[in-house]
Parts: sequence; C-alpha cells; structure tokens
Amino acid sequence: MADNKELTRGKQLRKALQYKKTNGYDRLREGDLEAMDAYCEGYKQYLDAGKTERECVDRTVALAEAAGFRAYQRSMALKPGDKVYRINRGKAVMLAVMGRKGLECGVNIAAAHIDSPRLDLKQNPLYESEELAFLKTHYYGGIRKYQWMTIPLELHGVVVLRDGRTLRVSVGGGQGDPLFTIDDLLPHLGMEHGKKPLAEAFPGENLNILVGSRPLADDEDSDRVKIAVLELLNRKYGMVEEDFISAELSAVPAFNACDIGFDRSLIGAYGHDDRVCAYASLAALLQLGVPERTAVCILADKEEIGSEGVSGMQSSAFDTFMADLCESQKVRVDVCFERSFCLSADVTAAYDPNFAEVYEKRNSALVNYGMGLCKYTGARGKSGASDASAEVVGYVRRVLDKAGVVWQMAELGKVDAGGGGTVACYMANRNIDTLDAGVPVLSMHAPFETVSKLDCYMTFRGIKALFEAD
Ligand code: MN
Ligand code: MN
Repeated sequence: MADNKELTRGKQLRKALQYKKTNGYDRLREGDLEAMDAYCEGYKQYLDAGKTERECVDRTVALAEAAGFRAYQRSMALKPGDKVYRINRGKAVMLAVMGRKGLECGVNIAAAHIDSPRLDLKQNPLYESEELAFLKTHYYGGIRKYQWMTIPLELHGVVVLRDGRTLRVSVGGGQGDPLFTIDDLLPHLGMEHGKKPLAEAFPGENLNILVGSRPLADDEDSDRVKIAVLELLNRKYGMVEEDFISAELSAVPAFNACDIGFDRSLIGAYGHDDRVCAYASLAALLQLGVPERTAVCILADKEEIGSEGVSGMQSSAFDTFMADLCESQKVRVDVCFERSFCLSADVTAAYDPNFAEVYEKRNSALVNYGMGLCKYTGARGKSGASDASAEVVGYVRRVLDKAGVVWQMAELGKVDAGGGGTVACYMANRNIDTLDAGVPVLSMHAPFETVSKLDCYMTFRGIKALFEAD
C-alpha cells in the first residue's frame, strides 16, 4: 500500500474503484500454460472422435468408464464417491458423482449440448440429375448456407434396416475414405447471382451433396449413375433405397481439430458449439474425488433446434434420472432441484474486430479473457432468456475468483442485432438456479469455428470449481 502515496488521487481512485478487464495471458500462473496445452490436446481428440451427438455419447462413455463410472441401474444403492451414467437413446448422456451431502441439499449441475449445426439427409435423398448423383439435405440448426458449399464433407449416422437391424455409417472419417461436397457457382458466371442478398442467393433447397458420377456399365436407363451408387451402398451396408426412410444421416465438415496461429494459441474445428463446453464439463466431472454436493453433468441433444424432443433438454429424461437418484435416498426430486445450481455451459460469441458493427465491445466476450458468463441470452428485450438473478451471478463470481479462474462477462452482441438461446431457461424452469457460461467462439455455427486455448482451459477450471463448491 506504500506505493499508493506516490499515486495521484485520481489514480488511487481508479485503482480502488474501477472495473478493469485483463487479458488472461497477463494473469496466468506457474504451470498454467503446460496444463492448458495438455487439456487442449485431450479436447482435440474428443472433437475428432465425435462428429455427431451419437459419437460424442460413445466417446463420453468410453472416457467415463475408464475413469470408474458404471451404467446406472434403477434402484442401485449409491454411496458418496460413486460414479454413474445413463445414456438417453444413444444421443444424450447424464453422469453423476455422488457427493458427501444428501440430495436434499441439492446438486451442482453442468448442462451442455453435443449436437452441432450440420446438413441432415432428407428421408428420400438420392437422385440423379444430368448424370450426376446427389443427396438432398435439410439443414439442422442455424447456418449461413454459403459456408457449407465447396468444402469437403463426411457422412455420419445410422440406418435402421427393414429387419430392424441398426447400421452405423461413417464415411470420410477413416483413412483413404472418399469425401463429399456441395458445388457452387464459378465467379466467371456469377454476375447476376452476385447481386442477390445472401439470404436469397443460397436457398436451402440447393444444398445438394454430390455423391457420384460413374454410370452403371452396359445400362441405358436415365438413372444409371444413381443405380450404381445404390449398388455400392447395398454391397457395403446391405441397404436398399427405401432404408433411407428410417435413417439418420448427417453431412458434417471433413476437418479434424487443429491449432490455429503461428503461436498455436487457438483451436480451429467443426463443432466447438457446444462440444467445447461438453468436454469441459465432462473433464471436470471425471477429475472429481468425492465432492461435497453431488455433481451432475448432462450432455444433451437437440439444443440447436430448440431443445425439443426426447433427447433434448426439455425432455423429462433428465428429471427421471434425477428422480431415480433421489429415490435411492428417499428425497423428493423437486426438493433437490430447489436447492440445486446449474451452469448452462454453452458457447458465446467472441468479439470479432472484423465485424465490430454487430458487437457492443464493453459487454462482449473477448478472446483470451477467459470463461464468459452470460446473465441473460435471448433476443428483443431478453425474450427467451431465464435471466439469472444478481445473487446467482454473485455466487458464481465468488466461486470462480476463489479458484483463480480467469472469467469475464459476456453478452452476445448489440441489442437488437439478433440473439440466441441456450438450455438455461429449461433448467431454470425446473426451479434450478441457473447461469449461462462458456467459451467465446469466433465464426460460431460455421463449419470451422475458432476458440482460444486459454478460454477452453479456464472454462474447464471454472466448471470444476463449481462442481467442487459446497
Ligand atoms: Mn450452443
Ligand atoms: Mn449453437
């Protein structure tokens, strides 16, 4: 404090009173850089293994089982330190580490989602046009359509055959696999097309994936390219065209995660939203010993289309899982929820100086400034937001500061520039105190999104601190 005597009164006041944001790199401690890099290597592997929610569930369960988690059986007796998981229809997963305290004291929840924007195949997708074979798509989640053209695509998903067998399909992920793409207009002939507004220039119905061009030999019908493709599918998977009807096939970008920048400070990948928070939640949970309060992680599906459906966060699958845990301790699940805390772990927009006009910099998340906390999301006057209370924000602030986590406040963009939602409102509607927080992302919902390693690591640290809070 002796230094303060040297400062002018104005400088003293500023130091004492003003809120100042600092770049996370100026706040790192001994060993943080190494820990950050190691953490991010694990995250990149998780991304490469999980291009769809089903694959993320598989990877999550493999990691959890290696860390001592068991599949939960209804009425299983549970003691502090027990680790269990339940898969919901292969597309969402819930995990819990039982705490020392009873469930009547509430639980600490991290809720993230593992579905990401992509191009789903329609149910009758395969057609031939001018001796080229294509698959018709219906995009899933909010996308800027032009970003998905002229990039390499993989095909992932399942096909349920007429006899009930389910086939897993993954074309493009393996060594030497072929890839797919959507073609676009050449600039030489784009004079008129270039004058159209973006929303009109790329109709969703034009996102047709090129999948073949070699006609069936010695055949004269008008669909000999298509029938040759069907023959290949039949040979490889035993499927016929009608089986597309009961298939769930998604075209996803054929990029693996990689370091970005001369300094390797960023990660570029498909699906950071929201696997970056899903992995942070999972990694934090896997590292817990015996927490005071039971720690619960849910990795949900369908967030990108409104959290609807049996595998989305609005599904009572979560309530059933929690009720099962509560019943083993003779606790009412609504009493447990009433005293629980949930971090709605989802990405936020990182301030992008190349599009400064849509951000309000004072309240935007900055790259490398740490985990971004959002008091509210929504659009047009916070509509659709659960708008966490000052008390909840205050609680999280205290926990993160105590744990030395680098964090910042984050609002998506300028008022009325647009907006977005998360699963936060569905958790809050269950009478659970909920706050949104997550990693700031550049190019959110693009086939190739970018995040900072520091922000990924700090989000993991933040979630871990909240799991450990009593
Ligand atoms: Mn998200
Ligand atoms: Mn999203």
